[in-house]
Amino acid sequence: MNGRLVVMGGGGFLGSHLCDHLLARGDEVVCVDDFSTGRRSNVAHLADHPGFALVEADVSVSIPVDGPVTGVFNLASPASPPDYLARPLETLAVGSEGSRRGLDLAHRHNARFIMASTSEVYGDPEVHPQSESYWGRVNPVGPRSVYDEAKRFSEALVMAHRRTLGTDVGIVRIFNTYGPRLRPDDGRVVSNFLLQGMQGEPLTVYGDGSQTRSLCYVDDEVRGLIALFDSDLTGPVNIGNPDEYTVLELAQTVVELLGSSSPIVHQPLPVDDPTRRRPDISLARSALGWEPTTELADGLARTAASLADDVGVAGPALSDDGRSAG
Ligand code: UDP
Repeated sequence: MNGRLVVMGGGGFLGSHLCDHLLARGDEVVCVDDFSTGRRSNVAHLADHPGFALVEADVSVSIPVDGPVTGVFNLASPASPPDYLARPLETLAVGSEGSRRGLDLAHRHNARFIMASTSEVYGDPEVHPQSESYWGRVNPVGPRSVYDEAKRFSEALVMAHRRTLGTDVGIVRIFNTYGPRLRPDDGRVVSNFLLQGMQGEPLTVYGDGSQTRSLCYVDDEVRGLIALFDSDLTGPVNIGNPDEYTVLELAQTVVELLGSSSPIVHQPLPVDDPTRRRPDISLARSALGWEPTTELADGLARTAASLADDVGVAGPALSDDGRSAG
């Protein structure tokens, strides 16, 4: 089914991959971004694509999209902790006003609205792995609350729109995702470790590194988002990779993969850093037939190549099909 889809935050890391996948299957895409944390270079290769349009706007102020709309994806928000901690008020604005404008746009066009929510709604969880029925443990006044509560508020908005106006909605809770186009200065763990390893600098493990994350490769993540859009599931549904690693294990894996001589150093743990995180993806498997397929080593190799390209250092050796050679 081909449609004309608005991707709010389409210039970001995840949003730009979503634009690629939607265009590849024959949809038209209107990318809306203010490039506050996204990058023009993420969508520059799409400029001449006949199905692609770019609207530069802050969605918390307006979404100036004319013409038909058959679907709206809301990926507009700073997403890495350093990005949202540097933009606390903007993050709250985009998660409230931005989400409401996106919902209103979808409702006006009778279009399906997909809300990109987050594993951060679970906060520092007492339940492990996290299934969608868990309500979470978020510090409402800590520094991370600007992101966590904005996303929780967005979920509430989405459900209120559905209940009061009948808007067709889906909520996806996205767990840690990595891949090409992560900005070198994004600050998330994968891009930090890969860059540090490639540049021969120490890998900065925050705290003792015993906290866990479960990392999903971006193509797998985007397949999940599109599967949710194509379904009539409201969710919320977890889309993430259940393979769980400690941050220290991840640092060791990166050093090995790169054949790097970088040491591992420890730095203070950020406030309210969740101690463990792993999605229960039973619902995605049963309702969407979705599961991730990319091996960590392959995904890391592709991400390293993209970062190396960005900063002009030598990346890891890759074979022709983009898989790690080793
Ligand atoms: N982290 C780290 N070193 C870094 C960046 C992050 O040890 O250079 C840790 C961070 O404290 C957290 C995990 O890696 O426990 C994932 O952090 P990230 O910022 O990627 O995302 P989060 O899951 O916290 O949103």
